[in-house]
Amino acid sequence: MKLIEFTELYPDEASCRLAFKQYREKEGVTCKKCGNTTHYWKKKREQWECKKCHHRTTLKSGTVMENSKLPFRYWFIAMHLITSTKKTFSAKEIQRQLGHKRYEPI
Ligand SMILES: [Zn+2]
Repeated sequence: MKLIEFTELYPDEASCRLAFKQYREKEGVTCKKCGNTTHYWKKKREQWECKKCHHRTTLKSGTVMENSKLPFRYWFIAMHLITSTKKTFSAKEIQRQLGHKRYEPI
C-alpha cells in the first residue's frame, strides 16, 4: 500500500481505532480474567465487556500499545512504514517521519 492510499484509508484517529477493533475481533478477544472469548462491545467506552464475568478489555490491553498513551494513528503509521518498505525502519526514522519530539515512546 502506498502512503497516500494509507492516509485515505485511515484519515483520522477514529478510523484507526475502528480498524484496530475489527482486527482484534478477527483475531479473537480473550478475557484476561476468565479466558472467555465472547464479549459485548461497549461503544461509549470503546471497551469489550466479558459476557461471563463482565471484566472489561480496552482496545489497547494485551497489545504492544498497552502502556502507551500515543494515539492509534501513530502506531498505524509506524506499522505501515515497517510493513510497506523492504528496508528496516529504525525507531529514529519513524520518529522523524512522525515529527515526534521524544524518542522514548516510539
Ligand atoms: Zn471474563
